[in-house]
Amino acid sequence: MGIFVFGSLNLDLVVQAPHLPRSGETLTGTEFQTLPGGKGANQAVAAARLGITGAAQTGTGNGVELVGCVGADAWGQQLRENLTIAGVGTGGVSIEPAETTGLALITVATAADPQGRHRAGENHIVLVPGANARVGDREVQYLDRALCEIPGPHWVLLQLEVPIESLGRAAAVAQARGATVILDPAPVPAAAAGSRAPSGRLAELYPGVDVLTPNWGEAERLLGRSIDADASVEVFLDAARTLQDQTQVGTVILTLGDRGLVAVQADRHWVRPAFPVTVQDTTAAGDAFNGGLVVALSEGRSWEVALDWGRAAGALATTRLGAQSALPDRATLLRFLRGVSS
Ligand code: ADP
Repeated sequence: MGIFVFGSLNLDLVVQAPHLPRSGETLTGTEFQTLPGGKGANQAVAAARLGITGAAQTGTGNGVELVGCVGADAWGQQLRENLTIAGVGTGGVSIEPAETTGLALITVATAADPQGRHRAGENHIVLVPGANARVGDREVQYLDRALCEIPGPHWVLLQLEVPIESLGRAAAVAQARGATVILDPAPVPAAAAGSRAPSGRLAELYPGVDVLTPNWGEAERLLGRSIDADASVEVFLDAARTLQDQTQVGTVILTLGDRGLVAVQADRHWVRPAFPVTVQDTTAAGDAFNGGLVVALSEGRSWEVALDWGRAAGALATTRLGAQSALPDRATLLRFLRGVSS
């Protein structure tokens, strides 16, 4: 059995600067960091860190594999090594010589702009998808072969940072091989935003998807309407049911940040609050959630328990700074769940 994440890898190049630069301005920064990211890589690391019991050895990993693409540059090498250290199999990460590795250039302001253009902590991000945009037939075929060769059952996690047509083919292949497909529709593409949902090419994906896990903002964009921040649980449940009607996906889970989640299936639903934690940085809460959910399901746990694992992983990720550095390991998650249930 295995968990396959079909998605993106990015390297975040982060500089701290006294303020965000104006056009033509050269600034002296104070700090530089390279951080591994990309929703595909984050979710693969989230799952691997929680570990799965009874997983098939996939050759290089412990039952969690990332299928994606990097460039033939030092950054791609660094991202692959980082995944290996995290216990994620990288046999499915191809190298595209004609592209750069996916990169995000991030400038973070250490102080507020004196002219009020921004506050401290605000950032500028330029994202270059690079090799992520080349995820295609080669990766779909790899997924197909792996799903055939490794005894199931399998779970396949998708996000929207690689081309939608490739995701559609990956979902179809996964479905044909009997895998359970989870789609985190993040980020919602511009074509889907503001139009009647489910729109255009995203709708092509839904027939191959079993579980849909949008956050609040993504649900709004998929539905093409806003949902009031103070809305009652019934409103969120109604939004989840509407999404389910529109997409025909069996399980829709709306993650609601510090308001927890609602989840619907044809004949049942769940409403769960967020676990109370001291929040430091909410980056990657959704990635942690998807990792926790898929690991629990892959171990044959019930939906109730899988939702608990997801929201515990999400809550724990908010208690630490960063993305992958904030993702909890299995012992931490189990200890946290014991603590909150006692
Ligand atoms: P995303 O990071 O994709 O926006 P969410 O913010 O909805 O996703 O977070 C995913 C899950 O993580 C939530 O359903 C919740 O259970 C948990 N979580 C997120 N933020 C908090 C928080 N501030 N406190 C406790 N749990 C949180």
